[in-house]
Amino acid sequence: MKIGMLAPPWIKIPPAGYGGIEWVVHYLTDELVERGHDVTLFATGDSVTKARLVSAFPQEMPDRIGQTLFDVRQAATAFKQADRFDIIHDHSGFVAVPFASFIGTPVVHTLHGPFTADACDFYRTFRDSAHYVSISNYQRSCCPDLRYAGNVYNPIDINSWPFAAREEKEDYLLAFGRVCADKGFHTAIEVAKRSGRRLIIAGAVQAPYRDYWETVVRPQVDGDQIQFVGEVTLTQKWNLFAKAQAFLFPIQWPEPFGLVMIESMAVGTPVLAFPEGSVPEVVIDGVSGFVVETTDEMVERLDHLDEIDPETCRSYVADKFSVAKATEGYEEIYRKILAG
Ligand code: UDP
Repeated sequence: MKIGMLAPPWIKIPPAGYGGIEWVVHYLTDELVERGHDVTLFATGDSVTKARLVSAFPQEMPDRIGQTLFDVRQAATAFKQADRFDIIHDHSGFVAVPFASFIGTPVVHTLHGPFTADACDFYRTFRDSAHYVSISNYQRSCCPDLRYAGNVYNPIDINSWPFAAREEKEDYLLAFGRVCADKGFHTAIEVAKRSGRRLIIAGAVQAPYRDYWETVVRPQVDGDQIQFVGEVTLTQKWNLFAKAQAFLFPIQWPEPFGLVMIESMAVGTPVLAFPEGSVPEVVIDGVSGFVVETTDEMVERLDHLDEIDPETCRSYVADKFSVAKATEGYEEIYRKILAG
């Protein structure tokens, strides 16, 4: 198939630091090329891909995330050449969907964000413009009446991630991700303090969440029990996840998928999470971590980490969230759409 893959324009493929959608686009694009498809990736010029790369911008610009003149221009670059493709696969948020019905090429749109009331209303308005793909059944249940082509879980290539057995774990808990209230960093700090354990916090502090960082998280960072290491390299990220006793994910929003959970389980580190959004679909309670209702329960479960087998965590991810499985899911969706 001739596939046009449209990425968001602000972060290169694959990302050096923050970038969930960009990892998914990277894995999927390269695997489709490996399987013999003719793929053109629309992404910044510093991206590295097995596909043909077409760029509206020479390099990434993470400090301009969300500024819409960039995603409009990248989407227009892809749509201008729509006739070259059998299918366009759009990962670019809201920008391309309204115009997808104006081109002759069918558009598959992966829903990467949570459904707010406004987002659901938006997609309903453009119900027939694109073929929608959800990334968790929970996400889909928040706006069930779209034209869904399927559900495909986000993948991870576990071969590139290390593994650490229980005896290789070190003496800390991990909180990792976009530093914002939704991801519950303040609760992770509370869990660490109440359990008397060390916590390492890693992640980008993005402009919209600076206030949360300054007023809630930063005052509690003491460089000893509560440490903050900021945005880290890929190798540091692998190590931080692999050596942690547990990954704390006390989220306070309807997580649409949550790549960090599969990254943690891939390296054999149990996930302790609140049951919001996709969590009960992604973590098997008592097998790959603990899904708990309260902060008290999260503290209590830390005494049961030896009930979680790191090898089982990894093999669960290898089976359910592999790049092959996600790519097969999308191939099937493309084929069905092209068969009419
Ligand atoms: N990430 C990273 N550095 C950071 C913050 C996040 O590498 O400072 C990565 C994280 O490992 C994951 C992705 O960015 O691969 C975030 O995706 P996720 O679905 O967990 O969260 P969201 O898209 O809601 O931020």
